[in-house]
Amino acid sequence: AEELKIAVGAMEISDKTVGDVMTKIDDVFMLPDTTTLNTKTVAEILRMGYTRIPVFAAGDRNNVVSLLFVKDLALLDPDDNFTIQTVCNYHQHALRFVLHDTPLRVMLEEFKKGDYHLAMVNEIVEHEDQDPSYQLQGVVTLEDIVEEILQAEIVDE
Ligand code: ADP
Repeated sequence: AEELKIAVGAMEISDKTVGDVMTKIDDVFMLPDTTTLNTKTVAEILRMGYTRIPVFAAGDRNNVVSLLFVKDLALLDPDDNFTIQTVCNYHQHALRFVLHDTPLRVMLEEFKKGDYHLAMVNEIVEHEDQDPSYQLQGVVTLEDIVEEILQAEIVDE
């Protein structure tokens, strides 16, 4: 029965898109680049339990400019009071964007190349009186796609 589920999942992946499996923007834990990394904020970040945290600029959650990796905080001295921006500028982790209608198959192949395992998901919004713009819809990770294929919750180790 488990094999059948996986087979069905693998077949269904063909007509699903990134937008179907992503974590929606309102549920994404992200932080402003101006955040000071002191004992309190680092504790909060660790408590959330995510590996990667999108970082936005100018107080605009639609304006994600970098990724903070929780492992970047390991060697940080909280008394230095660095901002997230400083830490992100130092590490420069690649930040990737995909459109929400990207087929899961395409996204999976992209993740399999191994350069990155989280992408920001954008939607193109048309306007009457100005050029189209991007609206951030969420994040997608390799985990979201694997979970879709297995059609079962994967319990994190
Ligand atoms: P993590 O290692 O942080 O748990 P995974 O790649 O294993 O990340 O993804 C687990 C789930 O968490 C996925 O559904 C993914 O979309 C979601 N996710 C990843 N990062 C964040 C974040 N910063 N805020 C909210 N959800 C996230």
